[in-house]
Amino acid sequence: SLPGKTAVITGSNSGIGLGVARELAKAGANVVLNSFTDRDEDHALAAEISQETGTKARYIKADMSNGDECRALIEKAGACDILVNNAGIQHVAPIDQFPVEKWDAIVAINMNSAFHTMAAALPMMRRAGWGRIVNIASAHGLTASPFKAAYVAAKHGVVGMTKTVALETAQEPITCNAICPGYVLTPLVEAQIPDTMKEYNMSREDVIKNVMLERQPSKAFATVEQMGGTTVFLCSDAAAQITGTTISVDGGWTAL
Ligand code: NAD
Repeated sequence: SLPGKTAVITGSNSGIGLGVARELAKAGANVVLNSFTDRDEDHALAAEISQETGTKARYIKADMSNGDECRALIEKAGACDILVNNAGIQHVAPIDQFPVEKWDAIVAINMNSAFHTMAAALPMMRRAGWGRIVNIASAHGLTASPFKAAYVAAKHGVVGMTKTVALETAQEPITCNAICPGYVLTPLVEAQIPDTMKEYNMSREDVIKNVMLERQPSKAFATVEQMGGTTVFLCSDAAAQITGTTISVDGGWTAL
């Protein structure tokens, strides 16, 4: 259990990030939610988590495509014992038609943000004498699919950065690991169904069954609760010697 620890979860007003925040709060951590918007409903999510778990929860707006804002998020949090780099976007297109601004945004949000937040958080973890970094990579951090050049490049980059930070902190009470989810039915995955339907000229049902879950031998989506549970495990004492590695939560995808 994690009472007294403060967790910062980037991109956590939706999907996996929100699921991870809920599980960390259930385990006793105070949580900082984040996204680039500043709506009443963003702050309401934090209030709801506080109410449900009795821990402190706050929402802090910061755009993870901007390095200065990434670092400011950690500073504003005031403490960061647990850092979960989760913010991410997707765009599906063949590389010769891949919009340059989409490439830049994916690399910035999905990869560069983790550089900035880790750089800002590590000194705080060192002062606190304890730290856990969990980077939400992807099965696409270990394997590739067509039409996802930017995403696959960024996620492989996150896995590489994870190993490097683990080596830099190896003799400290800090660990750095990546979770590699397979398909989880979140808004991010919902949004790529129409493009993939067009790309393969398939119905929605066929895209889910024959494209998405085709790669996932379990034939079931993984859940945000499972990502949260895996994160809580990586923050536990049992995981103190687990560092610099990836945990796949992908229904067997990367075993294929
Ligand atoms: P999602 O769209 O539900 O969540 C993405 C989160 O990132 C949202 O909270 C969004 O507000 C936030 N975000 C986007 N741009 C941001 C920005 N510029 N600044 C701050 N926050 C920003 O998607 P998700 O599926 O929950 O994805 C979360 C992470 O999990 C991503 O890194 C994604 O690549 C990864 N992932 C998802 C799946 C899946 O199947 N859903 C599989 C593997 C990896």
